[in-house]
Amino acid sequence: MKNESRIYALFGNPVTQSLSPLMHNMVFSELKIDASYRAIRIEDARGIPGQMRALGISGASITIPHKTGIMPYLDTVSDSAERIGAVNTITHTDGRLLGDNTDWTGLVLALSDALEVQGKRFVILGAGGAARAAVYGIINAGGTPVIVNRTKKKGEQIAREFDCDFYPLDQIRRVTGDCLINTTPVGMFPDMDASPVDIKTLERFQWVMDTIYNPLETRLLKDATRAGLRTVSGDAMFVHQGAQQIRIWTGLEPPTELMKRVVLERLSE
Ligand code: NAP
Repeated sequence: MKNESRIYALFGNPVTQSLSPLMHNMVFSELKIDASYRAIRIEDARGIPGQMRALGISGASITIPHKTGIMPYLDTVSDSAERIGAVNTITHTDGRLLGDNTDWTGLVLALSDALEVQGKRFVILGAGGAARAAVYGIINAGGTPVIVNRTKKKGEQIAREFDCDFYPLDQIRRVTGDCLINTTPVGMFPDMDASPVDIKTLERFQWVMDTIYNPLETRLLKDATRAGLRTVSGDAMFVHQGAQQIRIWTGLEPPTELMKRVVLERLSE
């Protein structure tokens, strides 16, 4: 008897711009897995478990705005997702929905392609879900995170939870480190002329990473290159978080280089 084709999905709102269907369908085809991946727009996170059960969805990616809202409706949540406070991956096994977070792995693997994380100091701009994943991942990989955020209360909260330093954004000139990581949406399409920091600030770092991948080369990364710094763009994090989802769902090693190529090609169009 022929096994039924597996279904995977992305749940979020909006989902039309996502590159996850392109990337994951390519991986399934490359690994010869009989499965398909589709994007499903959903307004209320509470509807996700019902849809996964009704449609027999084996695994899902969760994106904005449901990464935190979905958590109470899952059967189990991994320690990392619990600490970060966000789930971006669900696995449906034996009727149970397990939540995980691969944004932190994605960020660490993207950084590790460019530098040794262990022993370095990372200055993280922002205090949202991506910043929390960055702080968790960097501590896990032996680096030291420092939070810099516009709103003091949110930055101080992360600093307390993860026992790291915090500076308000207007004092960033006082902060030093090896690598600056932008996890704010400043510089994202369509506001592509914006940068979260000025060039003078950049000169105190050796590496700059932007988690934004649209555009591929943000104003921040252009300024960093001009200042002679090495850069890491957000597509690397996107590909690595997706690769980790494939490992969790299938136990197989994904074709990461091919995933990078497909994503880069689409983003460069
Ligand atoms: P979020 O929870 O909304 O947090 C955004 C943070 O950015 C907040 O701390 C906010 O500061 C700060 N911010 C927003 N506008 C700002 C401004 N004009 N000036 C200074 N700070 C500002 O969002 P998120 O889920 O963390 O996502 C943030 C970004 O990460 C997204 O835009 C996305 O590009 C990127 N991301 C990339 C990947 C990837 O795979 N490459 C994965 C996840 C996320 P306040 O606290 O002051 O409001």
